[in-house]
Amino acid sequence: MKSLDNIKNCKKLAVMGGTFDPIHYGHLVAAETVREELGVERVLFIPSGRPPHKQKTRVAGDEHRYLMTVLATANNPYFEVSRMEIDRPGMTYTIDTIRALRTQCAPDCEIYFITGADAAAEIISWKDPQALVRLCRIVAVTRPGYDKSKIFYGLIKAQIPHDSFTFLEVPALSISSTDIRNRVGVGKSVRYLLPDSVEQYIKKFGLYQYQPYEETEPLIDEINKKLHYMLSPKRFTHTQGVAEESVRLAKVHGADEKKAYLAGLLHDCAKDISNKEKLDMCDKYGLELDEVLVNQTDLIHPFLGAELARDMFGIDDEDVLNAVRYHTTGRPGMSTLEKIVYLADFFEPNRHYFEGMDEMKKLAYKDLDEAMAFALDHTIKYNKGKKRVIHPLSRDALEYYKDHLIVNVKNI
Ligand code: NAP
Repeated sequence: MKSLDNIKNCKKLAVMGGTFDPIHYGHLVAAETVREELGVERVLFIPSGRPPHKQKTRVAGDEHRYLMTVLATANNPYFEVSRMEIDRPGMTYTIDTIRALRTQCAPDCEIYFITGADAAAEIISWKDPQALVRLCRIVAVTRPGYDKSKIFYGLIKAQIPHDSFTFLEVPALSISSTDIRNRVGVGKSVRYLLPDSVEQYIKKFGLYQYQPYEETEPLIDEINKKLHYMLSPKRFTHTQGVAEESVRLAKVHGADEKKAYLAGLLHDCAKDISNKEKLDMCDKYGLELDEVLVNQTDLIHPFLGAELARDMFGIDDEDVLNAVRYHTTGRPGMSTLEKIVYLADFFEPNRHYFEGMDEMKKLAYKDLDEAMAFALDHTIKYNKGKKRVIHPLSRDALEYYKDHLIVNVKNI
């Protein structure tokens, strides 16, 4: 804990918390401004570990973010960097960080926690926000013209007194890590946005280069925003689980992970629409409903979902659309992606346990066709038990996958 030696005797210490993915001049100017304006003796940069709100976001490796922060701060004698969050196992919460620091510094040391205003506006969702503001003062750094009412609203909801926060405008904060990542991704210059040493580091390790997820990140953000409105919280969580399980299966079976993620996210997009609206929308999209669908409106959602995925979410990849379309009934001769989403829907981690779930999951990671035969058989039996009419596509699919298995066994 060498970096913490320098803070032991501080009377005023600032802690700069952030993902720093990557660190840029906006962060450095903000830290220097706080140091001067509030007269703090040291600024301790703490790259975040695994904050709970970033579980679904791709972030560059901890070590990269730590090393870039070290490079960026090396020439400022008042700046230090700590590994405490990236080395702490499990989820990282700011309250734990500040409590740990309190044991390292003088009892009368005033601690300021600096972070971006947008991050601070979410304080109600942090762990123990009231205890946090008793242990430190929050310095929310904003770009000029930032609408502070967003934060005040959050403070009222979290029952946190306004005067626990200090606001500081920092014009350099028009620079953003997201913009830098996007620029690197498309080969644009990032000179003058971050220190040369960090720019060289990004080049050397090929960070933020074209990646399937990075390319689709804005699209995925957009999709999530819409889904948030369209789905119940429980269903929203389920779709995230299916997207992630689909990616895990795609990795194992050599399918396109980006498509798996998209199809998983969108598979239930039409599920929470009322029956009346579903029927109106089917009219609008010219979707013809067979007898089973007319009598079991719940079965409409995958077919309607594919139409919405194309129309509302701008997806034009037929394989992704078919994975949405056949995720409930299945069909004979499904593509790898279709099978992946169909199966992930059964055993994504948020699903309630049912008998046969473990066996199905084990099969899915071993052989998708075997898992399909198992899952279809399971579903058809379950629905028959509920006296539901089985859709012909499911019957045909079960026959197809059973035959497939027999052929495979004969060929061994
Ligand atoms: P974020 O959501 O990635 O960032 C939100 C906005 O704030 C972005 O515009 C970001 O700009 C800016 N920002 C973040 N940190 C900044 C800083 N130190 N100085 C200036 N601007 C900053 O936020 P985050 O980085 O994940 O989280 C910020 C801090 O809050 C971290 O220390 C994190 O651990 C803590 N946090 C704690 C909890 C909890 O305890 N439960 C929950 C959430 C966040 P850039 O993208 O350009 O940086």
